Amino acid sequence: MKKNRRDFLKNAGVLGFAAAGMGGLEGCASKEAENTVPALKEWTSDPEWLKVKYGAWSGPGVPVGPGPMDDVLVKDYAPRSSVIAPETFIPKAKFPVIDIHLHHYPGQVEGTRPKEALAEWVKTMDEVGIEKSVILTVATGSQFDMMVDFYLNSHPDRFQLFCGIEKKDIDKPDFPERAVKELERCYGLGARGVGEVTDKGYGITGDPRLAPNERMHIDDVRLDPFWRKCAELRIPVNLHLADHPSSWQPPDVFQERTPIFQQFNQFGSEGVPYDKLLEYLPRLLAKHRDTTFIACHLANLGNDLQRLGKLLDAHPNFFLDISARDYEVGRQPRAAAKFLARYSDRVLFGTDMGMDKGMYQAWWRLLESADEHMPGRSWWRYYGLELPEDVLLKLYRENALKLLNWS
Ligand SMILES: [Zn+2]
Repeated sequence: MKKNRRDFLKNAGVLGFAAAGMGGLEGCASKEAENTVPALKEWTSDPEWLKVKYGAWSGPGVPVGPGPMDDVLVKDYAPRSSVIAPETFIPKAKFPVIDIHLHHYPGQVEGTRPKEALAEWVKTMDEVGIEKSVILTVATGSQFDMMVDFYLNSHPDRFQLFCGIEKKDIDKPDFPERAVKELERCYGLGARGVGEVTDKGYGITGDPRLAPNERMHIDDVRLDPFWRKCAELRIPVNLHLADHPSSWQPPDVFQERTPIFQQFNQFGSEGVPYDKLLEYLPRLLAKHRDTTFIACHLANLGNDLQRLGKLLDAHPNFFLDISARDYEVGRQPRAAAKFLARYSDRVLFGTDMGMDKGMYQAWWRLLESADEHMPGRSWWRYYGLELPEDVLLKLYRENALKLLNWS
C-alpha cells in the first residue's frame, strides 16, 4: 500500500478517532489535529462496545470512573503479569527443524557485513536446533544469482532457496513463456521452490497503481504455464494470499490488533478485499491439482480453523506453513493442537521473523510446553500446545522432507 497514512485514514473516515483516540488523548494531539477532531465519543456507554468488550459479563462488575491510567496510550500498554506459573525454557527444538519460511535477513542487518551476519545466523541455527533454513528470496535474474552465491556456495547443506516469479511486463504477450524460462533457469541454479508469491489485493506485482483489469491475480490464465512448470519440476509454491482478516477492519476501538500492526491495515483501500481474495485459492487449487501450494501464515485463516480444515479436506495439493501465526495458535491452544494433529501431514514449520535466538526458543516453548499465559506479539497472551512427538516430528521436518524435492 503506497498511500500515505493520513490519506488512508481520511478515506476510512476515522481520522478523528485515530488522531485523538488511538494516537493520543487531548494532551498529546497536535494543534492541527485539535482543530479538525470532533469531540471524543463516550464509548463506555455504547451498547455495541459493551457487548464486544464484556460479552455475557455485561460490564466490569465494579463502578467505573476516571483514573490515573486514563492517559496511557493503547500502543504503549504492556501489562506486567502477576501470574506465578511454570516457565519452561527450551533452548533447542526436540527434533532437528527445517524452517521453511525465511527471507534474506543477513542482507538487512545494519552495521554488519552480510557474510558475518550469515555466519552468526548459522551459529544460532546450531544452538536452537535448526538443521536447514529455506530462504524465500522472491528474486529472479541477477538478484537470484546473488542469493545462490551468498547461500548455496557458502553453506550448501544449511540453506535452500526458493526463487520468485518474473514480474516485468506482465501485460506483454510473451510473459507466460518468459516466466517459465526464468523459472527453469533458477531451478538449474538450485531453486527448489517458488516464493513467496504475495497477493494482498493488488495482484502478484503488488503495484497499487494498476487498475483492477491490469492486475495479475493468482488464478490468472497467464500464470497457468508457470504453475504447470512447478508441477513438472516437482517444486512447491509458497503463497501469501490476503493478510490477517483484521487488516480489512477499520482502525477504530473494535480493531482486533494493536496499533503497531496497523501499518498493514487496508481498510477502505482499492485492492481486492479479504473474502474475495480467498476465493481465488480453491479455484487455483482445483485447476492445478498437480502443483503443490503451501499457503503461508495458515493461509490467513488461522482465526477460523474449521474453515481451514474444510479447504484441506477438499484439496490434497494444499499445504500450510505456520509462520508468523504464533498469535493464532497461542490464543486457541486446544483447538490448534487438535487441528495440527488432525492435519499433521499438511502443516510445515516456518518462522518469518528474523534470526533472533530468543524468537526460535519462544516457538519451542509455544509448541512443546504446556506453559500458560506467556507473553506474545499481540495484546493477548499465549498458551502452550504441548504437541505430541509424532505431530512435532512431521511439523518440524518430515512434511518438509516429503514436499521439497531436494534430491
Ligand atoms: Zn514471508
